[in-house]
Amino acid sequence: MAQPTLVSNGRHDGRAADALRPIRFENGIAPHAAGSTLIHWGNTRVICAVSIDDVVPRWMKEQSVPGGWLTAEYSMLPYSTVDRKARDISKGRLDGRSSEIQRLIGRALRASIDLTKLGQRTLWIDCDVLQADGGTRTAAITGAWVALNLALKKLQSLGKLPQWPIVEQVTAVSVGIVEGRPLLDLCYVEDAGAAVDMNLVMTATGKYIELQGSGEESTFSREELESLLALGRTGIDQLVELQNAVL
Ligand code: UDP
Repeated sequence: MAQPTLVSNGRHDGRAADALRPIRFENGIAPHAAGSTLIHWGNTRVICAVSIDDVVPRWMKEQSVPGGWLTAEYSMLPYSTVDRKARDISKGRLDGRSSEIQRLIGRALRASIDLTKLGQRTLWIDCDVLQADGGTRTAAITGAWVALNLALKKLQSLGKLPQWPIVEQVTAVSVGIVEGRPLLDLCYVEDAGAAVDMNLVMTATGKYIELQGSGEESTFSREELESLLALGRTGIDQLVELQNAVL
């Protein structure tokens, strides 16, 4: 099979440098979860589901920390990648990359919520990649925020939530420099060819929650960083509208 390549503007699919891939949400994909969505982000697809446990972690009880907790798990299904990815359970250990990504998702979502308004409960955010084509962590965060809102709306409709706990709208997008050009929202082929690769986790009001940026056998200047941040912000603004539309 021929290797996929980048077209002349550095993009795999001919998109404009500042264009996102087509994104849509399929809410209610996991009916037993309190809230769920399947986020379709180009050819990346991630199931995001929220389950609610009416207990808090033992450390919170021991330290008398008020309110609730939110934690996340991330995994790639074996058939989400071109070559089958063995399940962590069959290897007997959690993959380092998955561990890093699930901690990122947890931090991102905890920044969106006032945990003291949650009551004594734990929210489990499960993000399972159905199809991977770059940007699975940013899709997971963006979808998880939608699933979180659906779960909390359900809790509220049952009269179990005296105060609405969401304080920030959270979304995430990737940017990078490919063939010398800053690009928004890299697919796998673009990501693999990127000299600089960055993930932005931001609020709807333009505040940063996390920036993960690195030169891949390369360096980047302050000016390039600023152009990537500006490009990322245009993506975040569009994602905020898409999240609002589906809620
Ligand atoms: N990927 C893969 N197998 C892996 C890890 C990654 O096929 O074990 C691919 C997948 O398409 C993923 C992309 O490489 O989306 C980029 O991976 P990265 O670690 O940068 O995370 P992501 O961009 O998905 O957040």
